[in-house]
Amino acid sequence: MSNVLDNDIMYLPGVGPKRSELLKKELGIFTFGDLLYFFPYRHIDRTKIYKIAELTEELPYVQVVGRIINISEAGAGRNRRLKAIITDGTGTMEMVWFKGINWVIKRLKPNIDYLFFGKASRFGSTFSMAHPEMDIYSPNQEMLTGMLQPVYSTTEKLKSNHITSKTIMGYVKALLPIVKGKIQETLTLPIIEKHKLMTLQEALFNVHFPQNPLILRKAQYRIKFEELFYTQLSILSRQKVRQVRVNGHVFKHVGVNFNRFYYEKLPFPLTNAQKRVIKEIRNDMISGKQMNRLLQGDVGSGKTVVALMCMLLAVDNGYQACIMAPTEILANQHFESITNLLGDLPVTVGLLTGSTKKSERNTLHKSLEAGELQILIGTHALIEDVVKFKNLGLVVIDEQQRFGVAQRAKLWEKNNDPPHVLVMTATPIPRTLAMTVYGDLDVSIIDELPPGRKPVKTIHYTDAKRNLVFGLMREQIEKGRQVYVVYPLIKESEKLENLKDLEDGYESIVRAFPPPKYVTVVVHGQMKAEDKDYAMNLFAQGKAQIMVATTVIEVGVNVPNATVMVIESAERFGLSQLHQLRGRVGRGADESYCVLVSQVKLTKESRKRLETMVSTNDGFQIAEVDLQLRGPGDITGTLQSGMPFDLKMANLATDGQLIQHVRGVVNDLLDSDPLLEQPQNSLLKNQLNKLEIHRTDYTGIS
Ligand code: ADP
Ligand code: MG
Repeated sequence: MSNVLDNDIMYLPGVGPKRSELLKKELGIFTFGDLLYFFPYRHIDRTKIYKIAELTEELPYVQVVGRIINISEAGAGRNRRLKAIITDGTGTMEMVWFKGINWVIKRLKPNIDYLFFGKASRFGSTFSMAHPEMDIYSPNQEMLTGMLQPVYSTTEKLKSNHITSKTIMGYVKALLPIVKGKIQETLTLPIIEKHKLMTLQEALFNVHFPQNPLILRKAQYRIKFEELFYTQLSILSRQKVRQVRVNGHVFKHVGVNFNRFYYEKLPFPLTNAQKRVIKEIRNDMISGKQMNRLLQGDVGSGKTVVALMCMLLAVDNGYQACIMAPTEILANQHFESITNLLGDLPVTVGLLTGSTKKSERNTLHKSLEAGELQILIGTHALIEDVVKFKNLGLVVIDEQQRFGVAQRAKLWEKNNDPPHVLVMTATPIPRTLAMTVYGDLDVSIIDELPPGRKPVKTIHYTDAKRNLVFGLMREQIEKGRQVYVVYPLIKESEKLENLKDLEDGYESIVRAFPPPKYVTVVVHGQMKAEDKDYAMNLFAQGKAQIMVATTVIEVGVNVPNATVMVIESAERFGLSQLHQLRGRVGRGADESYCVLVSQVKLTKESRKRLETMVSTNDGFQIAEVDLQLRGPGDITGTLQSGMPFDLKMANLATDGQLIQHVRGVVNDLLDSDPLLEQPQNSLLKNQLNKLEIHRTDYTGIS
């Protein structure tokens, strides 16, 4: 059945082949339907004309009508600007242009009323509008529109081809009568009525051309509701299907290795939080259902030992277990600490990373397939197809924010019956993301640090206060403590420029802390593995007091004697990265410090990030701020692929309450009809299938 919404945008009156190419390339608008769903990002109230005397700085874009009483030019070349003073009888204000001045001058005429539109800013006692939109004022025509006018995003390329927001508005105006009556409803009547929603057609029409702000909000609400409804339906029904169809391995026994470890080997009592999450995980592992659990715990909260004890449960029940870490350094560290913790327990543990030698690798592969190797620790190397297990029962993924969905899905396929999956993260996930991007994971939280840890004191200094930074470093080193100094090296592409930062920094540190009294080592991602290990070991053994590094030390490095973390160019780091770095200190019993060094001049966002770091150590709070600042798209990065569908209207950062509400609605629906088999729900099922048809199926993996 052909649907008018699938028509090529080229055939919309006024578009044609040339402009349709631009719309496709620049905005991804290929069809009538794409245009219908190309929502305005804001609306302007074109019915309201402000008096100059009424203006305040808080107002968004406003319209004023006025006559020009004075025109003047100032400056020259790049500083040239044009000023027009206007009056509307209630006061005067200033219109300013910095560009296209010659063109504007030609258009400005005295004794004519102009309609100006723009943002009014206050300078001293007068208001000024830069680059206003302007038209000759003709009251009738303006009043006729009588509604909120949509504003659409465009691109430079479109603008230079005369496709502006107004052009797009014209297209949408032409489109609506064509699609009227042909938009199929996507929610059932009971849902629409119960939640007092607009119909889809009503919502789509009013989201472009609403009569008033209230109707606009109702239209947006309906569209958000629907997006979130299908997101939740997709996530939660997959979860239901998994629970019904997939059998989980049952780790019935608490066996000898687990018990011997707990009573003989564990060097410290577990915190209550650790005990609780081990119980939660164990309950999953005996339930007969396949576990998909997210373990959240701030840096240093002791997730490794939890993972180890869960792996021992698998081993004691005749299964293999593996743990995947995002970096080689971290995998090595896990291997060392896990073999240390296990001591002489008869559990076989292997390490597989990119630098494992070929011969070793072959032996590993064989003993894995034979089932002789019980616990495998490694990096991405684990997910290569050649790595085959005899009977993989548990997969632990550490610092999961570094892995994409597809990578995790591969581990899931390592056994005929999928293994239990435990995903661990030190970057707390804001609630809204936990309900969406990670929607089908159960969540366990370690909300308690091992005893004796003091919160890290965080200080923000500007570059000019470097002597204070050096002072603190010196004082701590005198006490026998150690110091990290970290430079940004975020992307490969930036490596040269930033490496220079690091090298300059290293030189100035060595000048201030000269050998042989002080030993400073350098670690960065471009070094050979053995040089890196050598430097790391010097520091870990206390033979070097200062480590100058890039973010390679972000995860996993554990030197309890280190008490100072200096982060250079701190304004260039993201919040979660800063938090991770700070987590490298405060691991021993001594007071620890995190010093954020930045330029004086900061953007609003970087100032907020640094202030947040200074004011709190709470990872959850930090994650919420991060989400607000960065927006969900960015924060989830590769994880976004864990979302069933793109959200066009709903916003994970700001629609938390609605997400929660809709999740409840969907849960109730699935409680009464888990597989959507009842006839009154067939519309929902069909719509869900239609939406899901284009996405890869990672059933069960989030
Ligand atoms: P993370 O959660 O960041 O992965 P780790 O598992 O690396 O934390 O643990 C951090 C440090 O705390 C390790 O040195 C570990 O041995 C120690 N640790 C873990 N649990 C406890 C505990 N209950 N009591 C004391 N120290 C603990
Ligand atoms: Mg860890």
